[in-house]
Amino acid sequence: MESGTASNNFLRSLIAEDLRSGKVPKIVTRFPPEPNGYLHIGHAKSISVNFGLAEEFNGICRLRFDDTNPEKESQEFIESIQADVAWLGYTWEGPVRFASSYFETLYSWAEYLVEQGKAYVDDLSPDEAREYRGTLTEPGRNSPFRDRSAEENLDLLRRMRAGEFADGERVLRAKIDMASPNMNLRDPILYRIRKAHHHQTGDAWPIYPTYDFAHGQEDAIEGVTHSICTLEFEDHRPLYEWFISNLPVESQPRQFEFGRLNTSYTITSKRKLKQLVDEAIVDSWDDPRMPTVAGMRRRGYTPAAIRHFCEMVGTSRSDGVVDVAMLEHAIRDDLNQNAPRAMCVLNPLKLTLRNVPEGHAPIAAAAHPSRDELGERSLPFSANLFIDAEDFREEANKKFKRLVLGKRVRLRNAYVIEAVDVEKNADGEIVGVIADLIEGTLGNDPADGVKPKGVIHWVEAASAVPATIRLYDRLFTDPAPDRGGADFMEFLNPDSLRVAEGALLEPGAATASPESRFQFEREGYFVADRYDHSAEAPVFNQTIGLRDVWASKT
Ligand code: ATP
Ligand code: MG
Repeated sequence: MESGTASNNFLRSLIAEDLRSGKVPKIVTRFPPEPNGYLHIGHAKSISVNFGLAEEFNGICRLRFDDTNPEKESQEFIESIQADVAWLGYTWEGPVRFASSYFETLYSWAEYLVEQGKAYVDDLSPDEAREYRGTLTEPGRNSPFRDRSAEENLDLLRRMRAGEFADGERVLRAKIDMASPNMNLRDPILYRIRKAHHHQTGDAWPIYPTYDFAHGQEDAIEGVTHSICTLEFEDHRPLYEWFISNLPVESQPRQFEFGRLNTSYTITSKRKLKQLVDEAIVDSWDDPRMPTVAGMRRRGYTPAAIRHFCEMVGTSRSDGVVDVAMLEHAIRDDLNQNAPRAMCVLNPLKLTLRNVPEGHAPIAAAAHPSRDELGERSLPFSANLFIDAEDFREEANKKFKRLVLGKRVRLRNAYVIEAVDVEKNADGEIVGVIADLIEGTLGNDPADGVKPKGVIHWVEAASAVPATIRLYDRLFTDPAPDRGGADFMEFLNPDSLRVAEGALLEPGAATASPESRFQFEREGYFVADRYDHSAEAPVFNQTIGLRDVWASKT
């Protein structure tokens, strides 16, 4: 897959051309989230497009909250969005912007349109307005209030603004064309009455501008040159342009649309994500199973891998679904190269070495097999170890490349051992393995030429730290959990979270700071939980397995 070239991003070529031809001296973009939820993987794509293009072409990208719907918005979302953008590695120019800080200007432009005879106050009820609007196949009809005089409209608009009317009683509409084949041009609403408290402007406004009336004008105020959004806004572009050409705005932004990024096995509707939180299907917006940026962070995904993925999938003029395995692959690749190694036994089984005297020195092991600069770690070693119960069998065929009674295996980073006996409880269950260490096998094959069958991981009993390990899997079992209006709740994966309580961790990993990422050798990639982890009671979240186990399922 090509990346970093014009070929997988049509916006890149378009901007290069605008700069070359002198259409714009410098590009200005913005990322404009509505603070009504946490950002998700689709937003990460939009962030990487807007910030990435600005970075690449020496332009400016800002963060602007599109906060025109106060009821659904909150300070929590404002803060999480800023944290997510910063975590992804982007810096917005200047302070964070708010659409709400332009409310006065937007309102003055509404009066301007009224004075120009290009907007009117409409008293139709919402039901009536719907009926007058027509359909895709039938033109709409003019509202009986459409021909009010500019004076009357101005008076009514000012009274709307003064809070004289009840919610929904009147609206301000642009006077464009009720017969337009583009429904967005059928006298769209500019202002609605909503006596709602706003997180930024308090109770100053009983009316709020619509997205359409606000967005392009905010772009114009900020000198945005390329207003990049997703394809669902394509039909709004004529309206965007109508406002820009009919208002005394200080600059002329242009809107460009690209296809939304969707990944399989994922839902990205904020409403549905909120439902998962509200119904306690997940613990929070940043539950590691959530496709939110905060969830991916807590899961151990890296900003670099997410950015790389967003670049790799390209930016095109069509919506598409990308296999989520591609995202997982990007994460695995990054962690394989960068995560230090550690050992963690998820399902401990006692291993006693008969011939290891007390006081064995710790063993030095590489933190990473191919990155010497990451240094070494020190592994305590003694006669008393733990291995994973899955790695031992009394009898097994040749495919089982682990420890078998009477056979040899290499302890990862350490010696070759040979199992000589098992300990069982009264129920006949195996509770321990007795083995001999083969002398001289630290870094060497056994002198007698009898090679071990495989390599297993282990921890030393006295120094290992009990840890809680959260094992995550995909949240949905179906590649398209909300396709065609399907009820995504029916496709919840019952095993999306399993908790290994009695796991034992190599001591060096226990003392790692929250958000440290490791490859637990032979188990996968794990991250110390951002909130719950401590050296005394380590908590690690599984980021991703070593291999794609879903590939064979589908
Ligand atoms: P909602 O789900 O509530 O309709 P939204 O996901 O569009 O909202 P916004 O806060 O309006 O959320 O999005 C901010 C920006 O992110 C917009 O420019 C939007 O086009 C873009 N965006 C949202 N979802 C995706 C996606 N899946 N792929 C690419 N860009 C997206
Ligand atoms: Mg939106």
